[in-house]
Formats: sequence, C-alpha cells, structure tokens
Amino acid sequence: MRRRRLIWHVVPHFLIIAALSTAVAAWFADRAIRGFHIDRVAENLAVQNRFLQDLLPADPAAADAGPALAAAIDAGRRAAPGTRVTVIAPDGRVLADSTADPAHMQPHQGRPEVAAALRGNPGRDMRLSDTTGRSTLYLALPLRAGDRVTAVLRTAASIEEMEQVLADLQRRIVLHGIAVVAIAIVVAFLLSSRVLRPLAELERGAARFAAGDLSHRVPVPDAREISAVAEAMNRMAEQLRERIDAIETQRAEVETLLASLGEGVVAVGADERVLYANGQAADLLNTGAAEARGHDLREAIRHPELQEAVLKAMRSGEPVEAGVVIRGDREIYLQGRAVPLRDAGGQPRGAVVVLNDLTRIHRLMVMRRDFVANVSHELKTPLTSIGGFVETLLDPDPPPADEQRRFLGIVLRQVHRLQSLVDDLLGLARIEQQAEQGTIETAPAAARELIDEAVETCRQLATDRGVGIDVEAPEELTARVDAGRIGRAIVNLLDNAIKHSPEGARVVVASRDAGPDLEFSVTDRGCGIEPRHLPRLFERFYRVDKARSRREGGTGLGLAIVKHIVHAHGGQVAVESRPGEGSRFSFRIPKAGPPVGQA
Ligand code: ADP
Repeated sequence: MRRRRLIWHVVPHFLIIAALSTAVAAWFADRAIRGFHIDRVAENLAVQNRFLQDLLPADPAAADAGPALAAAIDAGRRAAPGTRVTVIAPDGRVLADSTADPAHMQPHQGRPEVAAALRGNPGRDMRLSDTTGRSTLYLALPLRAGDRVTAVLRTAASIEEMEQVLADLQRRIVLHGIAVVAIAIVVAFLLSSRVLRPLAELERGAARFAAGDLSHRVPVPDAREISAVAEAMNRMAEQLRERIDAIETQRAEVETLLASLGEGVVAVGADERVLYANGQAADLLNTGAAEARGHDLREAIRHPELQEAVLKAMRSGEPVEAGVVIRGDREIYLQGRAVPLRDAGGQPRGAVVVLNDLTRIHRLMVMRRDFVANVSHELKTPLTSIGGFVETLLDPDPPPADEQRRFLGIVLRQVHRLQSLVDDLLGLARIEQQAEQGTIETAPAAARELIDEAVETCRQLATDRGVGIDVEAPEELTARVDAGRIGRAIVNLLDNAIKHSPEGARVVVASRDAGPDLEFSVTDRGCGIEPRHLPRLFERFYRVDKARSRREGGTGLGLAIVKHIVHAHGGQVAVESRPGEGSRFSFRIPKAGPPVGQA
C-alpha cells in the first residue's frame, strides 16, 4: 500500500475545520445582522404605523375619505421619506399609495401581511416588491371602526441596502476565511515539520540501526512523547550492541576453541548444508574451511560412510560412529562420530561430526606389533641354533672333539649375537627413555676427538675389509653432547659404510660447522640404496638385504639407534644415496646442546 506523508493526514482536517468554522461564522453573522436590522426596520415601520393610524380617517374606504387619506399619506411621506405607505380596502383594493398610482395596482388582499391584517391581526412579510421590484419588509395593521376592519394600513421599507451590506460582509468573511485557511495550512506545515523533524530523525536512526550501525544515537528532542521513543530506541540499540558483542565474543571463543582442538569438527544444519567446519576438519577432508560452509553435506564431505553417519544421526536422534580410511599420498585413518543437534525446544537442528585422525595411533600400533614380531623373530633364530647345537653336544653319542669345539664356537657366536641384540634393544630403550624424561647428560666435546675415537673403534673392521678411512674434521669445532652416545652414532654409521664398501674403497668421516648446528657425515662409495627404502631406513629392524645384514652380524637396529640419539640431542638425521654409487649418512645437532625441555 502506498503510504502518504504524515502531513497529508493533518492538512485536510485543518482545511475542513477552517472552512467549516468560516461558514458557521458567516452564517451566524448573517443571521444576527439580518435579524437585528430587520427588527430595527420593523420597529421604525411600527412607529410609522402608529403615527399614520392617528392621521387616517376612521373609514378610509368611504367615498369622502379621499382628501384625508391623501393628507395622511403625504404627512407619512414627509415624516419618513424612505417609507412607502399603502392603504388597502377590506376587498383588497389599494386606496392610496405613497409610491405608485393605486389605479395601476393589483388588488392586495392576497399579500400575506394584508391577509393577516384583514383577519384583524398585525401582519408582517418580507419579499421582493411587485411594485418596486426591491427586497422589502412589509408591516400591516388593521384599521377598525368598532369590530369591523375598515381598511389595512401597510408601511414598507426597502431592505435592499441591508442585503448589500450583508453580501459585502459575507464576501469579507469568505475572504477572511480563505486567509484563515491559508494561514492554517502554513501553520499546519510549520507545526508538522516541527513535529516531523524529530520523527524523521527517528526514522533515519531506525534505518541505521537496521543497517547494523548500533553505535549511532538518535537525537533526543524536547517533546516528551518523542523523546521517550528516542530514548527507548537508543537504549534498545545499546542493549542490542551489548548482546551482539556478547554473542560475537562467545562465537569467537567457540571458534578459537574449535580451531584449537586436535579434532576436526563439522556442524551440519537440518537442511543438510554445512554450517561450520574448523581448519582441522578442512585439512582432514581435503577442503577449505570457508568453502565448505553453506555447501551441501555431500559436496563438503566426500566420504559416503561419514555422510551416512551424519544422516543416520539426524534421522535417529542417536550418535553414530563411522571409520574411514582415506587413501591419498599417505593413508589417513579417520574416526567420525556424528551427534544429533537439537534446539532449545528439543527439535532436530542437524548434527555435529567430530573427526579424529587415528593415523598416528594406527601407525604406532602397527609399529608395536611389528616390533614385537621382529624382536621375537630376531631372538628365535639364534636360540633355535643354540638349542640345536647344545642338543647335539648332549647326545649320548657325541661328535668328535674338534666338531664339538666348532659347535661350541657357533653357540658362542649366537650368544654374542643375542647379547648385541639385547644390548641394542636396551640401548635404544634407554636413549628413548632419557630423551622422553629429558635426563640426557651433555658436556662440551670436540668433534674431531669424537670422530677419531669412532675411527679407532672401527679400525680393525676396516683393516679386515681392506677399506680406507679419511677424516675431514677441523680441530676447533665443539658442541655440547653426550659424548658416548654421539660416538656410538658415528660408529654405527661408519660400521655400516665399511660393511657396504667394496675392498680397496675409502670412507670419509667429516664434521662441519652448519650455523647453530654441528654436522657429522659418513660418505661411502659402496653399493648404495634404492630410493624406495630411504623413508623407512631408520625404522627399527628395517633392513634392505636381510640375509646380508644377518651374515654381517647386524641387528637391524643400528640406524634406529642413530636416529634416537640424534633426536635426543634435538637434531635431525638425513640420508642421500644412489644405487651403485654410494651413500652419505649425516646428522646435525645444535652446538649449544639439546633445546631446553629436551635434555
Ligand atoms: P644393520 O644392523 O642391518 O646394519 P642398520 O639399521 O644399521 O641395520 O641398517 C639398516 C639397513 O640399511 C641395513 O640392513 C642396510 O641394508 C642399509 N644400510 C645401512 N647403511 C648402509 C650403507 N652405508 N650403504 C648401503 N646400505 C646401508
């Protein structure tokens, strides 16, 4: 509906009131003035009548009354020049008239004032005169002789002037009325604009509030009613702002909380569209958190098991769990728990899915299982061998003495193997424990000395294999380390390098300054390692060539021990290798020792 401005609701009423009051004033003025004037004229006529009554003969219709009649009329004319005097016989005939010739006049008994006087009463009438053609007031009196009406004396005066005065007055009243209406319109405009200005401010303020500008304040006018509305609006805006601030703060808190969670969280509305997804959920589902919002559940979560869990939770009103394995560059194990959402009235509003990345736990479980299997396997081989030879030696028919010695030699080698396996396992467990508890003990040590000692340890093996060792280590480099452990790490790398080098080859053991770190490296020109093995090389019991490792007396724990020693020092291990060309194993540790909290 098209709405009119408030002023157009006011002005027509003002106009009607002004016009009506002008018309009523004009009507009353007309009536009052007309009544007063006519009464005055009538009084004059009555005086005139009484005066003439005395002058007229008793029976003006008598044949001899002519001169007396004429004298009376003449006296009347002189006494009141503007007054017309007429004497009418009982039969209506005009006997005398001060203005016209009675011979040309119509009988007058039909005139209302004359008719009344003929009946014996004074008569009065006001009308246009047939004779003069003017608006006239007539007053008629019966003239009596005893009970008989002998004639009617009628005086008349024009009220034309009065009509003109009244017409003039009415014109003026109308002109004044128009002026009043015009003033009323101007006053209405002025008043309404005065009243409307604060209303317009309220309207503008309400529009700004609606547009979200709640810091705006509506000016408070003097008028009490409007000032109350303005103050109420300002209070409302203030409260709204406080509430919105509180809601925003709450939302920011919840978003921070959700963003800081390790779990992925996705909220889905009853229309199956995503309301919210935190960063973790976006990462796990491989979608953008912002892009996911507003999208259909099936677009944002592309795993049918999770979609089904959400829909089922929404349908049943019960929590539903689902597990998904996402196979990409790496496998991700996801556990999803969909919980239905309800509003304050208990009505279903959608669901929240909490996603847990179980990949690490899964990998740890697999690693533990593999570790137990590996340890059992590693223990079983030497134990079986020892058991077999001891049984043979205990046989009632034992083998010859030199055989027995050979068997005992084998048993001893297996015992040594078991021993080094147990030593490595214990060493690994201890370094892990110390790294975890931060109890690793460090002291300043010279890199060169650590290398020299390691080379000394491996000297015999190198000589046996015909492999040369070159040392490239400046004298001055030092670092805070657990010297025994770092020496062990270098020995492990050097031992591997020698074992994998052909006879006559050379192995380089080096150390160098790497900014805040100290780098140790062992480079060989041996068989090298295929790239597919490199990511897993530092895992416990991971071997490239199992048979060769066992033959060489390796436990498969050497590189795992290196990695854990380096990690305990806050460092990193690295390997570069090309099959057929050789390998370079290196590690870096902070010169200042393990970072605080780590050792
Ligand atoms: P192992 O006791 O079997 O030597 P490690 O953990 O020390 O166990 O090494 C793991 C595997 O890495 C070894 O079995 C070997 O196949 C491979 N490897 C280690 N060092 C070298 C190297 N310098 N050149 C070639 N292969 C190596």
